[in-house]
Amino acid sequence: MVATLGAPVAAILIVVCTVSWWWSLHHRDASLDQAAERHVNAVSLMIAELAGQMIASEDLTSLRRFVIETSRQNNLTHCRVTIGPGQIVADAETSLITTRELPETWSTGGDDGTVERTNGQIAARVPVDVAGRGRAWLELSAPSGLATAGGATLELGLAGVTLAALCAMLLVYHRVRKRLSAISHVRDALFAVANGETDSGSLRVDESLGPEAPAWNTLLTQREEFRRQLTVQNAVQTVRSSTDDHAGLNAACDALPQGMLVIDESRQVTYANGAAAVYLQRSRDELTHALVDELIEDESIRKAIDQIMSGRSRQRSIIELERGENGSDGVLRFIVRPVRREDVAEAMVIIEDITQQRIAEQSRHMFVTHVTHELRTPLTNILLYTDAAIDEAEPDPSVMSRSLNMIDGEARRLERVVGDMLSMAEIEAGARQLQQDDVRLDVLIDQMEIDYTPQAQEKQITLEFDLPPKIPVLCADRDKVSLGLHNLLGNALKYTPEGGTIRLEVTVDGQQILVSVSDTGIGISEEDQSHIFDRFYRAKDKRITTITGSGLGLALAREVIRLHGGDITVESEIDQGSVFTMSLPVPAEAA
Ligand code: ATP
Ligand code: MG
Repeated sequence: MVATLGAPVAAILIVVCTVSWWWSLHHRDASLDQAAERHVNAVSLMIAELAGQMIASEDLTSLRRFVIETSRQNNLTHCRVTIGPGQIVADAETSLITTRELPETWSTGGDDGTVERTNGQIAARVPVDVAGRGRAWLELSAPSGLATAGGATLELGLAGVTLAALCAMLLVYHRVRKRLSAISHVRDALFAVANGETDSGSLRVDESLGPEAPAWNTLLTQREEFRRQLTVQNAVQTVRSSTDDHAGLNAACDALPQGMLVIDESRQVTYANGAAAVYLQRSRDELTHALVDELIEDESIRKAIDQIMSGRSRQRSIIELERGENGSDGVLRFIVRPVRREDVAEAMVIIEDITQQRIAEQSRHMFVTHVTHELRTPLTNILLYTDAAIDEAEPDPSVMSRSLNMIDGEARRLERVVGDMLSMAEIEAGARQLQQDDVRLDVLIDQMEIDYTPQAQEKQITLEFDLPPKIPVLCADRDKVSLGLHNLLGNALKYTPEGGTIRLEVTVDGQQILVSVSDTGIGISEEDQSHIFDRFYRAKDKRITTITGSGLGLALAREVIRLHGGDITVESEIDQGSVFTMSLPVPAEAA
């Protein structure tokens, strides 16, 4: 930069010096010329005046001495007095005098006198009028201003000063250039940074160039340090976030309901989640780094792990293990599968608790078995009686009537079973929404009394109804509450032998209404009591084999009452009778 600027600055300085030199010389010449001219004029007028007096007094000797003297004193190159062309009366150079004596008169003509400048000389021609005799001429010349003032010396002086100034300038320039060299390099480095240079090594400046260089290099070092710190910070951040990710992954794996074990090729557990620890009944620390053979005793699972480790199998194996006697402590499913990595042999064991699934499967299976049975029995009976009626060559009206009665009974049984199953299925699927009716239990029970009295009378059973004078109005699904009550009263009638008593009692107990149906019937054994609310369950009592029923009634009744927030419980003693109690919550405003 300094080099670039230095040359034009030097050229400008030289031009300025030259111009100013020329300008001063020019003006000095002009002023010297004018001064010389004024001097010549003054001298010529003074000589002319005195010369006129000396000529008038015919004192030529004094005139000639005066001319010589004055010429010398005033540094004149030429000084003479003439009275006509070639008639030189006096001259600074005495040998040039041509007229020794003055004539009486001489010419009076000629011009008014002149002053001319030629060849560095100022020449003056001044008329000297001598009264009564004629006009004499004083001619003199003197060197012009420059010559007089010794111009060469001045010019040399000026040139010397200019040269000295240039040298001084060069010296300063040289020093400044040295000083600015570091700044120039720093500037170049800045441009390099702007163009994308990031390597600090190539941006460094030689510190011998000037004090700016170390400062710049320090800045670069600090920048490097900042960048290093930033890289470290980013790395720490990345490590932290990846640790967080792992923590998140671990937490997610821990939240899984399935147990998870990862086993490496040395059969060591490298990862175990919380659920695995629960299923294998060990602490997580015990699982990690333990040998899988110490944790899992089952041979088939070990074999599946072996096959994956040896590479013989890439398929997953599913093994189900029952815990406790006949699976009383539940069932676990072990899924052994390879971890999808080409370079390492690793296996993963996923453990699931399928106890509930098993129970559901079993109850579904039982349900199907029961349904089949419940449907087949009446159907078989219907077919039997239909065939018998058709085969009868001469139909006996009494046989015919009995057959039709049987067919009717079995058809009704079928209808009831199918209806119950449908209700059950609807409740399970949530298809049936609860109606919000105002249910008046007293009205409902009065109707039941009307419905059941004939049956009771037929079996000589005493029906008693004990209702309080005021029963709160329920907000419930009337049909479902009715279904529950019918089931309880229907069962009591079915399972109470002739001559018994059935009592329906309603009590209001603060937040709930209790409807209890007690009978003096066959009663239910303790073992059966815990199952009578299961679907298709019928007591093992031999006496009920002659009583038709599918074992769905109580299951359905409890289900619908529970939907209302209530429940049905049983207390019974074999041969003594049973008490079924239905509880229903009372709406807050009605309580
Ligand atoms: P249905 O589906 O026709 O009602 P069910 O009466 O056999 O058939 P549930 O009403 O569910 O079925 O009753 C289940 C079982 O509980 C009955 O089979 C019976 O063994 C027993 N049980 C129910 N009520 C009584 C009762 N009042 N006295 C004695 N045993 C009863
Ligand atoms: Mg029943």
